[in-house]
Amino acid sequence: MSELVTGDGRTHINSRLMRESLQNRGVLSQTDSDRDLRVFPDVTLVSIGGQSIFDRGKAAILPLVEELVEIKRDRSVKMVIGVGGGTRVRHTISIALDLGLPVGGMAQLVGAMEELNAILLNTLLAPHGSMPMQRDHFWDLPLYFDAGITPIAISVPPYHFWEPPPEAGHLPMHGSDFGLFQLAEVLGMKQVIYVKDEDGLYDRDPKKHPDARRFTRITLGELLPQLPDDNILDRELFHAWSHAKNLERITIVNGLVRGQLSRALRGEDVGTVIVKEPA
Ligand code: ADP
Ligand code: MG
Repeated sequence: MSELVTGDGRTHINSRLMRESLQNRGVLSQTDSDRDLRVFPDVTLVSIGGQSIFDRGKAAILPLVEELVEIKRDRSVKMVIGVGGGTRVRHTISIALDLGLPVGGMAQLVGAMEELNAILLNTLLAPHGSMPMQRDHFWDLPLYFDAGITPIAISVPPYHFWEPPPEAGHLPMHGSDFGLFQLAEVLGMKQVIYVKDEDGLYDRDPKKHPDARRFTRITLGELLPQLPDDNILDRELFHAWSHAKNLERITIVNGLVRGQLSRALRGEDVGTVIVKEPA
């Protein structure tokens, strides 16, 4: 039976956070849970880049769809696909900037652009089994996997009007890469694989610097102090990951090179592999 505590004009149920302000740093530092429930530890989240893949059209998308269909034949592979919005996001944001929309107003638009690419991919994958996925309906996932259906979600986090003010400039800080990282983290997924148009993360943008050097396998701790200014993933992702508890592995592969995604799904080191702890 719960113990009741009185004496300050109120009746409390005796518990750890009784009478505490939830803003007190000392209190907060003692709230770590001794275990986190990992809801889907055997699921891989595959992110398909908007600008890097979808905007290239048929030449990039069709071979990738073929590879996805091959991957789907192995029913033991459990994957969720997230899509980015690409160039339509850039067009829309530049119009929104001209119009003086607040950052939260712009963040609300991004998801709509991503929906278009989700429909596009669903149309191509539907004959082989695919479904749009509402991210907060994660309990549907086992149903999809049992039926051989690949769920396709949008990526950007749903902060909408509540997008926090950015550290610099006027664009939302929490983009598609961050949104999928967060989805994988909260559901305790196995890994995130980002499919882009380069072989991984380099020390500089390889499109501008032909001599840029690729990171093959690196820990997050080693990467943080040398995070490139120009990055293939949202910067916020790396900072949030350093405070996160679950996600252990992120891989970045080239979707224009057949086979890289399949190898990454099998757990091979390909492209750039970033791990949370020393392996
Ligand atoms: P997406 O639409 O998938 O988010 P982006 O265009 O935003 O794709 O990101 C992919 C691009 O990031 C690559 O084409 C590459 O030119 C660029 N890039 C910038 N900095 C780096 C870096 N340090 N390493 C690799 N690629 C980088
Ligand atoms: Mg991007």
